[in-house]
Amino acid sequence: MLAAVSILHIYNLWQGSRLLEWLRRTELDANLRFSGVWGDTGDRILRLIKLKDNQRQASEESLRQLLAAVQASPHGVVILDSDSRIQWSNQTASRHLGLDPRIDVQQLIGNMLRSPAFSQYVHSKSFDHEVIIEGRLHRIDRPHKLGIQLFPYGDGRMLLLSRDVTLIEQAETMRRDFVANVSHEIRTPLTVLSGFIETLQTLFLNDSIREKYLILMEHQSNRLKSLVDDLLTLSRLEGSPFPGQRDWIAVADLFKSCEEEAQGLSERLHPSSKNRQKLAFQMHPDSLEDEIAGNKTELISAFSNLISNAIRYIPAGGQIRVKWTRTSDEAVFSVEDTGPGIAPEHFSRLSERFYRIDRSRSRDTGGTGLGLAIVKHVIQRHGGSLEIESKLNQGSKFSLHFPAARYRFQKKETVNQTESI
Ligand code: ADP
Repeated sequence: MLAAVSILHIYNLWQGSRLLEWLRRTELDANLRFSGVWGDTGDRILRLIKLKDNQRQASEESLRQLLAAVQASPHGVVILDSDSRIQWSNQTASRHLGLDPRIDVQQLIGNMLRSPAFSQYVHSKSFDHEVIIEGRLHRIDRPHKLGIQLFPYGDGRMLLLSRDVTLIEQAETMRRDFVANVSHEIRTPLTVLSGFIETLQTLFLNDSIREKYLILMEHQSNRLKSLVDDLLTLSRLEGSPFPGQRDWIAVADLFKSCEEEAQGLSERLHPSSKNRQKLAFQMHPDSLEDEIAGNKTELISAFSNLISNAIRYIPAGGQIRVKWTRTSDEAVFSVEDTGPGIAPEHFSRLSERFYRIDRSRSRDTGGTGLGLAIVKHVIQRHGGSLEIESKLNQGSKFSLHFPAARYRFQKKETVNQTESI
């Protein structure tokens, strides 16, 4: 009996150690080669191991997916330990802050982000807002701004988020400049107007001086009206959908409206006919039925802005040529003058709002500084472009190029307008 128990015990020990050895070496999907109680034990252990392995794989996969999602974030993400040392960072943070995700692990964030604004932010310990710092690619002529915010969590750890705010900051600067410019443009005529009103109220003036003052007041209030009109036009252009290609407008009609307006302006600016500029509106007879697809009010506004600039800037007796030409690729509306011309360094800024070369000449002739900004908006909304050619003391040519899809014409046998004009 004792011998049998001993043999059974030895057998069990042997089976147990075989099973243990098998479990140590075997792959998880191998077939179990044990039977009886050792087979059941092995099977149970194997199932538990498989379960744990599946759970490990699932959590590894979730972690991988989570990291991939954080990598794809447009925000830079940096995980900091309780000593503010970098634990992990994503690719966007590398780009924003110049971090190397492997080499810079354990570096103090303060050593990597050497910005006085950021140091101040860290010391303030008030992290309910972001701090704006200059990005590492920042240059005076090419700003690069980052918004950085810290989020404390756990036992002293922190999450650092960074985002590129260059465009937002630029838009904010433009908005501030625009408001400052508009306020300045409005304040000047208003100051003049209120000065005249005060004088009229307090002094007894003879009729001729009174009349003179009223004319000057009218001039200032017209200036205010033009400014408000141009501001409204700009805001309509920015806030409305692009003109479609269903409404066709006859170029000859546009020319007619512009010509009437131009004659009126020229007469107002030069009451004496011998000082008036020579205005030539040239359309080839074959183009009289040409049409442009777009918005009539916008097109008249763009065309007449270019014409009125020419009338306002060229001296008495100068010449202005307004032309419409087309090929099979594009149609061009152009206004050419023999005026003072523009130095090339101004070209790129001329269509900025309120950019003027000669401020007083612009104001004296009723300019708002918004004309070319309107022209550029209109032509871009019609799929075209504005071209400026000019030579100092020789004259300027402003051309609006329309793409082929935006105009149509009756095919004639011989059409070569450029030559015949
Ligand atoms: P403004 O109302 O001042 O004319 P614009 O936006 O129409 O504003 O034009 C911007 C600036 O471009 C003008 O102030 C002027 O200095 C210059 N400019 C525009 N057209 C001409 C031109 N035909 N000849 C010379 N300078 C021009």
